[in-house]
Amino acid sequence: MDIRLTGRVAIITGGSKGLGLAMAKRFAASGADVAMLARTQETLDAAQAEVQAVSAGRVMTVACDVCSATDIAAAHAAVVGTLGKVDILVNNAGQSRTGAFLNVTDEVWQEDLDLKLFAAIRLTRLVWPGMQDRRWGRVINVLNTGAKTPRAGGSPTVVSRAAGLALSKVLAGEGAPHGILVNALLVGLIVSDQVRRGHAALVAKGSNVTLEEHIAKTGAAVPLGRMGTAEEFANIACFLASDQGGYIAGTAINVDGGASPVW
Ligand code: NDP
Repeated sequence: MDIRLTGRVAIITGGSKGLGLAMAKRFAASGADVAMLARTQETLDAAQAEVQAVSAGRVMTVACDVCSATDIAAAHAAVVGTLGKVDILVNNAGQSRTGAFLNVTDEVWQEDLDLKLFAAIRLTRLVWPGMQDRRWGRVINVLNTGAKTPRAGGSPTVVSRAAGLALSKVLAGEGAPHGILVNALLVGLIVSDQVRRGHAALVAKGSNVTLEEHIAKTGAAVPLGRMGTAEEFANIACFLASDQGGYIAGTAINVDGGASPVW
């Protein structure tokens, strides 16, 4: 199956690293114009060069903290101003944050909800009217498998992710009559910058395990016997974003090598 995104414009939050960068590359190589949002301009510049190398299309970056409603509005205006419209939105920016319930302060709860829930709410609200007018849109919310199986000690992340799952379902029902397909992708363990930072933290604490050993050890408990790659993740996102994924709405797909105990 030849999956093409020709003529589409995509926003990918957290597009400068890890899964976001892999999606930016995959979407651009499939013919889309791509806008990557993240906080650090230097990393965005490097990412833009990587994406542009695999694409003849337009690639832009916007420095934006998705926790800020003002930044989000400015980023959306910049993308529409440069690329003309938004057909595909991937709400991907995020990072894990967990702790024992009594240790999670109001401030931490709010930060986590701003990053993982309100960012998606605010950006989707902005791109939605254009998608409705053109009767074509895709919104992909990147969550984690904990959204379906919240565990003790998993807050605030799993609670924010469960809310993201509910948001995806609500939006899917409202969007489908207008040709806007909303789905969630639930990440298990996928090699990314986040994982590299986790390894660096272990080394800083005195571990002498190599990155390769760390990745192999972490992946050993997954039924497929390994961590996933960002490219594998980007493939399923690209399919959902394409016309070939045109009858899939309101679903939440585990991309986890079989690790989740539930569907
Ligand atoms: P990375 O840490 O590799 O990349 C995160 C990206 O998000 C970077 O581009 C980062 O850039 C950006 N970002 C972080 N905070 C903000 C912010 N406030 N505003 C704008 N951009 C931001 O993460 P992954 O690729 O691993 O993760 C992608 C998504 O998948 C995340 O939502 C994560 O929680 C989820 N996930 C990943 C798992 C995995 O195994 N990799 C497991 C479970 C969930 P910058 O720092 O410059 O802003």
